[in-house]
Amino acid sequence: MKQLVNIFVCIDFDRDYAIPIKNLQHAISYPLRNQSKDILDSPKLSASLKGSLNCFEPLIKYLIDFNVPSVFYFEARSLQILNSNNPNYISLLKKDIFEHGIHGFDHEDLTGEETGILLDRDKELQIIKDTQTVVESILDTKVYGFRAPYMKHTMNTFDILSELKICYDSSLYEESVKAITPHEIFDSILEFPVIKTPKDSVMGGMYTYLWPLFEGKRNAEDVINNYLQLVNNSQEDDSYISINLHSWHFSYNISQERYLTKLEIEENVQIFDNLINRLQESDKVIFSTPKIWLEERNLI
Ligand SMILES: [Zn+2]
Repeated sequence: MKQLVNIFVCIDFDRDYAIPIKNLQHAISYPLRNQSKDILDSPKLSASLKGSLNCFEPLIKYLIDFNVPSVFYFEARSLQILNSNNPNYISLLKKDIFEHGIHGFDHEDLTGEETGILLDRDKELQIIKDTQTVVESILDTKVYGFRAPYMKHTMNTFDILSELKICYDSSLYEESVKAITPHEIFDSILEFPVIKTPKDSVMGGMYTYLWPLFEGKRNAEDVINNYLQLVNNSQEDDSYISINLHSWHFSYNISQERYLTKLEIEENVQIFDNLINRLQESDKVIFSTPKIWLEERNLI
């Protein structure tokens, strides 16, 4: 019998479109990039959560109402801001269907390639450890997974995750035309890569980030068909496909440099709903998260 493919909905909970800036360790929100130096120099003031907040209710309501297990990879700073300004949302994020991973304190460029700020092992350890502490404390949870900001890790990252007893990383891309299985990457750390389909496949080159969809660069039907194709190509036991998105992308369009209207946000949630529905209707998938996957195999 054909195996069910695990589908992981993975949401990077970022400040609105985090970008690296030369000589600043923290990321800034792209919509704030022309603000004064005082604002940009402050990790807190340069982090706008407007996009994530504008679509928080419709998105979270959808995930809860339709019982879609999802993992959020949190920036500690954004979670702190959410906790201060919208504490009622924290209780929704604590629901059992949600897994809580981490994604840098201030969306740091760990490699320093973009910011010019190199982090030694101690500094990187402190950032990831502080992020873990904040996320575990605010959400009263345990963190199992890490996704590197900008999907860029250093030669120390996996060793640090191992020291902090974080079980898995999801910061690498893997080219594939079908669902994949996680593999051990370092010591006890498992890697759950993000699929990228090859350019010469029928799906064309597609990252399983929904970025081009929300930017209007790929139409919804194409994206849905590509996911269905990935599922149809999959036969292996224990395989998964992750659907990767950003918390703010339902409500902020980068190329148009604007926050979307309420109606446009609802339309984006509807597109996401269609994708989930069509996968569900295929009867070939099961919605899960990396944490559930690890639990089911007695790995945590
Ligand atoms: Zn991010």
